[in-house]
Amino acid sequence: MSQATQDSVREDGIIASVSGPVVTARDLDARMNDVVYVGDEGLMGEVIEIEGDLTTIQVYEETSGVGPGEPVENTGEPLTVDLGPGMLDAIYDGVQRPLDVLESKMGSPYLDRGVDAPGIDLEKKWEFEPTVSEGDEVAPGDVVGTVPETVTIEHKVMVPPDFEGGEVVAAEAGEFSVTEAVVELDNGEEVTMHQEWPVRKARPSQEKKTPREPLVSGQRILDGLFPIAKGGTAAIPGPFGSGKTVTQHQLAKWADADIVVYVGCGERGNEMTEVIEDFPELDDPKTGNPLMARTSLIANTSNMPVAARESCIYTGITIAEYYRDMGYDVALMADSTSRWAEAMREISSRLEEMPGEEGYPAYLAARLSEFYERAGYFTTVNGNEGSVSVIGAVSPPGGDFSEPVTQNTLRIVKTFWALDADLAERRHFPAINWNESYSLYQDQLDPWFVENVEDDWPEERQWAVDVLDEENELQEIVQLVGKDALPEDQQLTLEVARYLREAYLQQNAFHPTDTYCEPEKTYGILTAIHTFNDEAFKALEAGVPVEEIQAVEAVPRLNRIGVQEDWEAYIEDLKAEITEQLRELY
Ligand code: ADP
Repeated sequence: MSQATQDSVREDGIIASVSGPVVTARDLDARMNDVVYVGDEGLMGEVIEIEGDLTTIQVYEETSGVGPGEPVENTGEPLTVDLGPGMLDAIYDGVQRPLDVLESKMGSPYLDRGVDAPGIDLEKKWEFEPTVSEGDEVAPGDVVGTVPETVTIEHKVMVPPDFEGGEVVAAEAGEFSVTEAVVELDNGEEVTMHQEWPVRKARPSQEKKTPREPLVSGQRILDGLFPIAKGGTAAIPGPFGSGKTVTQHQLAKWADADIVVYVGCGERGNEMTEVIEDFPELDDPKTGNPLMARTSLIANTSNMPVAARESCIYTGITIAEYYRDMGYDVALMADSTSRWAEAMREISSRLEEMPGEEGYPAYLAARLSEFYERAGYFTTVNGNEGSVSVIGAVSPPGGDFSEPVTQNTLRIVKTFWALDADLAERRHFPAINWNESYSLYQDQLDPWFVENVEDDWPEERQWAVDVLDEENELQEIVQLVGKDALPEDQQLTLEVARYLREAYLQQNAFHPTDTYCEPEKTYGILTAIHTFNDEAFKALEAGVPVEEIQAVEAVPRLNRIGVQEDWEAYIEDLKAEITEQLRELY
């Protein structure tokens, strides 16, 4: 929570009623979304409804013991976050209170009430290096200097978007706290390393563009079949044990995003604790530094107050937008948006609003789309390019995708990675169901793959998709009459599809080499299987029985390409051997 907000407290009211996280106050002069301090303890809340003399507030802290007659103070400011160096390597709650600072303030890991702390350390000194000098003209959004925020990331200090801009009259290198002026303009404006921004309002940009670059993840099934764009949106359902955590860690580690913002939104308490414990342990494979050096974590367990869960998504996306404005590619992962929606549902029912489907408020769809809309590939205010990609987990109760949160999410996001408990049970990892998943970015990303990987990337992919589709249809027949009843060519198709599943779609996140597969290798594996396909069908046409084709010694080595470091030579050899051995049969 913003420090400045706290200082400008101005109006008083009186609590009229308390219902869980929802408090009404009388005689409070407030506007929608103003931040207020509720009760003798000064619990933080936000105005969500005003009717005549009564103001309704959602409170971000536990309200037990709070009662009518206690005071309510209005800050007159919306819920804002503190933006500046120090957001990386930090773990926050839903209203950007740093968990470590809170813990040390209270001497216990159990969050007390009414405790506040700024989102970034206001006293810490940072090494500022200006990139402008006296006489330079700067406009809103322009970068005026840099700060080594972590070992990995250089923080760019920008002119706030609501400044006028002008000529630089002072800019000096040195050690400064985030509240000290580092650059002064001729109109008296002083740029500090600190900005505040209301979380419910998207930060401005010049233009939102059609994303045309993939967010390469190094995961074959994602890059190969269901790519997400830089600035794109994806949803991933997470049935228990299906590999959601592993998939998210893989994306956080390997996706070619500069910055990761991970919003843990109200998953079961111990799961969130796992995230808080796991993430700081992860290494960043690209730099060898800790992954936290380019990560900001927002953690709200489901035992934290429901309203704070509602705000964590906004806090996360605002932080993501700030790094986007510096020109970075940011990946935001929200886990799980279902818990966020449930928080909305709870608040809405306390307000006695007219419920929509399954008790969710009628504005559920609007809120979800407002959130995902903040993703995108942007020309920033200063003319740079930056992106925010959003990957939202959904956790439909009982894995039933027909429920409102999943359905509304699927209407908005353009990529769907269907994690599948059955596949996980069969130890097919990543357990992403290729029949149910989709990416609507394919067409707009194909030119990138054609230009940067291979000319026939789209054709190779289509070939694989067709074979997997055919397998899917044939499986129904196989279940009825058995595989041996199929004609030989169809048996061979099943064999090719098996290699697509085992050598291409499966990928071991825990193998040092297989864990990351660059697009060239993803393509290479596909062509190796395609070579087998073509040579095998030639052999079949020449009269070779399918059993003999299946018994060819070199073919199973397809399944070992993933773990090869020297995969180019391996694939070349393997293609030659498969061809030779198959041709020997006729
Ligand atoms: P969830 O978070 O959905 O409950 P996890 O991500 O913890 O599930 O995955 C459960 C187990 O599945 C992991 O411990 C691991 O053994 C296995 N697993 C999941 N994804 C992969 C993968 N890509 N490669 C290898 N094993 C995996």
